[in-house]
Amino acid sequence: MTRTDPPGNAVRPSGNAAEPPEVPAVEVRDLQVRLGGALILAGIDLTVRAGEWVTVIGPNGAGKSTLLRAVGGLLPAPDTVRLFGTPLGALRRRERARVVATVAQSPVVPPGMAVLDYVLLGRNPYIPPLGRESAADLAVVHEVLDRLDLAGFRGRELATLSGGERQRVFLARALAQGATLLLLDEPTSALDIGHQQEVLELVDQLRRTEGLTVLATMHDLSIAGEYADRMVLLADGRIVATGTPHQVLTEDLLSRHYRAHVKVIPGPHGPLVLPTRPHP
Ligand code: ADP
Ligand code: MG
Repeated sequence: MTRTDPPGNAVRPSGNAAEPPEVPAVEVRDLQVRLGGALILAGIDLTVRAGEWVTVIGPNGAGKSTLLRAVGGLLPAPDTVRLFGTPLGALRRRERARVVATVAQSPVVPPGMAVLDYVLLGRNPYIPPLGRESAADLAVVHEVLDRLDLAGFRGRELATLSGGERQRVFLARALAQGATLLLLDEPTSALDIGHQQEVLELVDQLRRTEGLTVLATMHDLSIAGEYADRMVLLADGRIVATGTPHQVLTEDLLSRHYRAHVKVIPGPHGPLVLPTRPHP
């Protein structure tokens, strides 16, 4: 084989020679997860580009939360997951926390903790061991509380908030962490439609202004399709479909994998999924 390219500039795995290949925010290759002796996820391949919003859908028990936990470094799967090009196993806990922030499906609510202190936990990766938070850390926390309309709650005990208010506080903690990759496990399940939209619009706005990347799971399929660039349908621990909301939210795929009767109709920002009663 003859080569005319100058040395050092010859091998580019992909893309235009003038541009370096883009490093994906998330790269999962052949991920397997076993928990309690059972194979929960198998053969998972997933790429999320920087700045993209990808939403994982699938029936209860499909493995959505497990996938997010694996990507967030909360399960041992270091070599098959890369974040911004670095294998998860090569990131120390504090480093990882500056890269990826997770809002779990049901976060633990520490008893007696005030909202401000809880959101301040998001700044832990920036506070030296045995040190205290700086004025800059507090400024970040106050800004996030303002942005999420939570300033009035900062002195309240977290346990006394309504489910929706608490969900906004969980998101606030993740935003205060300052990570560029946000993993959101059913972030809006406890919210009324107004607060659902408010939270998702805010996340989308941050994605545009701060370049956040979002990997989420969501149960409301119509809303999921409105915000996602791409969707992944997970069933029995395997990816069974991936593509745009139009490609994944189809009557055929949804009835097959959810065992549900649905009608999919065109909406202003994506397909709308309507559950319909089966005919007697
Ligand atoms: P989803 O979020 O899609 O509802 P999960 O990821 O929470 O699904 O769970 C997927 C499957 O893994 C379920 O069958 C669940 O019971 C099982 N599972 C989750 N965590 C564990 C565990 N620690 N030990 C054994 N099985 C688990
Ligand atoms: Mg789940």
